[in-house]
Amino acid sequence: MTQALRELTTIGVGGVPSELVVAKTRDELLAHAKRIWYDAEDWLVLGGGSNIVVSDNLLDLRVIKVENKGIERLGQGHIRVQAGENWDDVVNYCIEHGLAGIESMSGIPGTMGAAPVQNIGAYGAELADVFLRCEFIDHATFEPVILEKEDMDFGYRNSAIKDHMMGIITWVELQLVSDLPAGSTELMRRRRAEVLELRASKGMVLDPNDRDTFSCGSFFVNPIVSARFARTLPPEAPAWPMDEDGDQVKISAAWLIEQSGIKKGLQLGDSKAGISTKHALAITNRGGATSNQVIELARFVQERVAATFGINLIPEPSFITS
Ligand SMILES: Cc1cc2nc3c(=O)[nH]c(=O)nc-3n(C[C@H](O)[C@H](O)[C@H](O)COP(=O)(O)OP(=O)(O)OC[C@H]3O[C@@H](n4cnc5c(N)ncnc54)[C@H](O)[C@@H]3O)c2cc1C
Repeated sequence: MTQALRELTTIGVGGVPSELVVAKTRDELLAHAKRIWYDAEDWLVLGGGSNIVVSDNLLDLRVIKVENKGIERLGQGHIRVQAGENWDDVVNYCIEHGLAGIESMSGIPGTMGAAPVQNIGAYGAELADVFLRCEFIDHATFEPVILEKEDMDFGYRNSAIKDHMMGIITWVELQLVSDLPAGSTELMRRRRAEVLELRASKGMVLDPNDRDTFSCGSFFVNPIVSARFARTLPPEAPAWPMDEDGDQVKISAAWLIEQSGIKKGLQLGDSKAGISTKHALAITNRGGATSNQVIELARFVQERVAATFGINLIPEPSFITS
């Protein structure tokens, strides 16, 4: 029988798809995409399953799992990475080859191919800073096209692909900084170690022995509100200006959640879904949670924050049903 998606996603929920194929090369990705798109309506492209909540009751879902690997040097700081490479391995590769720009994004789970989808980011860095182009099999034409940075419409945890384009990224090219002064590799290694330690303290590095990491990371994006609205919030609310004029302000979703009375570790009744004990922004599977329990807790958080602050929290992960 095909493997249940709960075994292939970090939050550990999701039923059995009707088909699951693994693509080990870019050409296999193209062949599987063409065949599945030709005769199926409900399909999913799956990387590391770290930003996805799948229903336990699937009717007819076809899954293409991306596992094509390889990192090529194309020039000064210019690399092409196959979509199935583990993102953190890419970070480590770059540090060890003296390429700078992504070390602050150490420890983010998932694959290279998914990284542009939501423009992953952490500690002041985001993928858009180093993204050059990618190859994308477009569901509209069934053909591969090259998407340059300007085609991607990157925003905060967003891109044209997340927003409206359907298809599969097969490889990504990045432009990193090379020709670094002596000692830079050591500095980058130190930065990586620092970030990994900080992330682990918040349950944000995958660890099979830590239930707080059975999550999708942040479950909600930090809301962006007008400066005028932000002034109605308590002055201690953590807020960051999003543009030079300061018209748009990003508010800490974790702060909003805690201030609306939701405590770390909260579980509803006998639900096995719970707020992480380390970070109010992560919804976790404490062991045996159902997809409905995860969604029920997410709704509860949204309702509490809306009732307290009048802000609708938007979930970060994709929800998959069929
Ligand atoms: C503990 C933890 C910490 C996290 N911390 C961060 C963080 O600091 N910053 C951050 O930005 N994110 C974070 N995340 C979220 C997650 O790591 C990223 O979103 C990551 O890029 C998801 O990669 P994935 O391969 O697991 O994608 P999946 O979960 O498999 O897929 C996510 C979405 O991308 C689509 N997709 C996957 N592969 C492709 C492809 N090749 N082509 C087109 N679409 C594709 C899927 O269909 C789905 O819609 C965290 C998650 C966890 C569990």
